[in-house]
Amino acid sequence: MGSATAYHLLARDSSLSVTVVEKDPTYRYSSTLLSDGNVRVQFNLEENIRISLYGMEVLEHFADTMEVNGVHPEVSMRRQGNLFLVEEAGRHAAETGLALQRSLGGDVEWLDADEIAAAYPPYANDRIVGGTLGRFDGSVDPNAVLHGYRRKAVSLGATYVTGEAVVLLNDSTRVTGVRLASGETISADVVVNATGAWAKDFLATGAVDLPVLPVMRTVFVVETPLSTAGMPSGFLSSGVYLIPESAHTWLVGWSLPDDPVGFDFTVHRDRFYDRYWPALVEDLPAFDRLRVVRGWTGLYAVNTLDGNAILGEWPEMKGLFLANGFSGHGFQQCHAVGRYLAELILGLPPELDLSRLGPQRILDGTPVLEHAGRII
Ligand SMILES: Cc1cc2nc3c(=O)[nH]c(=O)nc-3n(C[C@H](O)[C@H](O)[C@H](O)COP(=O)(O)OP(=O)(O)OC[C@H]3O[C@@H](n4cnc5c(N)ncnc54)[C@H](O)[C@@H]3O)c2cc1C
Repeated sequence: MGSATAYHLLARDSSLSVTVVEKDPTYRYSSTLLSDGNVRVQFNLEENIRISLYGMEVLEHFADTMEVNGVHPEVSMRRQGNLFLVEEAGRHAAETGLALQRSLGGDVEWLDADEIAAAYPPYANDRIVGGTLGRFDGSVDPNAVLHGYRRKAVSLGATYVTGEAVVLLNDSTRVTGVRLASGETISADVVVNATGAWAKDFLATGAVDLPVLPVMRTVFVVETPLSTAGMPSGFLSSGVYLIPESAHTWLVGWSLPDDPVGFDFTVHRDRFYDRYWPALVEDLPAFDRLRVVRGWTGLYAVNTLDGNAILGEWPEMKGLFLANGFSGHGFQQCHAVGRYLAELILGLPPELDLSRLGPQRILDGTPVLEHAGRII
């Protein structure tokens, strides 16, 4: 988010002075590098659908747009498709979402249960009534996207500083800059908080309280006798998802309500055997034989109000802009978010109106949900 915003600012005004502060330039624990890199138009909120459609358009030309000195960042788009399996209880929400996605130009189709069983046997299940398939959804390489934006931003004049921002400097009505752990102060009229899962702690140093928590999410890499050839990613009603990787290798992930909160990257394999696997096999018996190869844990920056991004200037502090609370679907949103924040900061009319995702709703306590009453 930080690098995409820096790029969009400088692409619009090369005379700006833009500094990106990053405490760990290896990005080892950043959610971006620990994400699955999945992109999809299958959301139920108009803003999220439009954000994804724009993101996919950007990814088509990313290698050329972000070219620097002849180097083209290759995002390796893999359009394996995303298939959301639907049971009777979820049919209405799925059909409503599908109609909205299609009305906005999303290429998503309904498959009946027997079509799914015929085309994708490992996803056969006697409880599903069908599924929604976005054939053009897929996965891209987060590392290429991150470094594509970073290198391009640097080429346009951005300065990257290695350091931890430990205080949000302000005079209580407007920001004045940040202080780093080294003691150095960077003065600024505008500060963009793009600290991901660390957002709440950093904002607290400026007496701003944001309902964003770092929640541990673990993804397991498994090998099965099932071939991934021609298989889309599968999203089950339970929330378990499968992403085909190579030959017989799949990623298996799940967001559980009791996933621990904190800055902990431990992989608990027993969680796979005790929780993920039984739920997976209950829905998809074909996955009853598998081997866990490895796994990794990253952090979701969960917006506990409504599970959606918080974008824009904090109403109670001039110059403080937020790109926070992406709740597990932010990687694909960096393109639209970077552009939107740059437009807001520069006072330009937004190409995509994302004002419903503005921070005023946090102060008002009025959620903007993907599904009525449900955080996904
Ligand atoms: C397991 C997993 C799977 C995911 N899968 C997907 C997916 O398939 N599709 C999708 O769209 N999204 C996915 N996400 C979500 C996605 O990764 C995030 O929403 C997105 O990457 C957030 O980007 P960001 O720039 O806000 O945060 P980050 O990438 O975490 O970047 C924040 C940066 O700020 C730095 N930082 C923090 N505090 C400070 C400080 N005080 N001073 C200086 N630097 C600081 C950190 O070091 C970090 O590099 C997934 C997330 C996880 C954990």
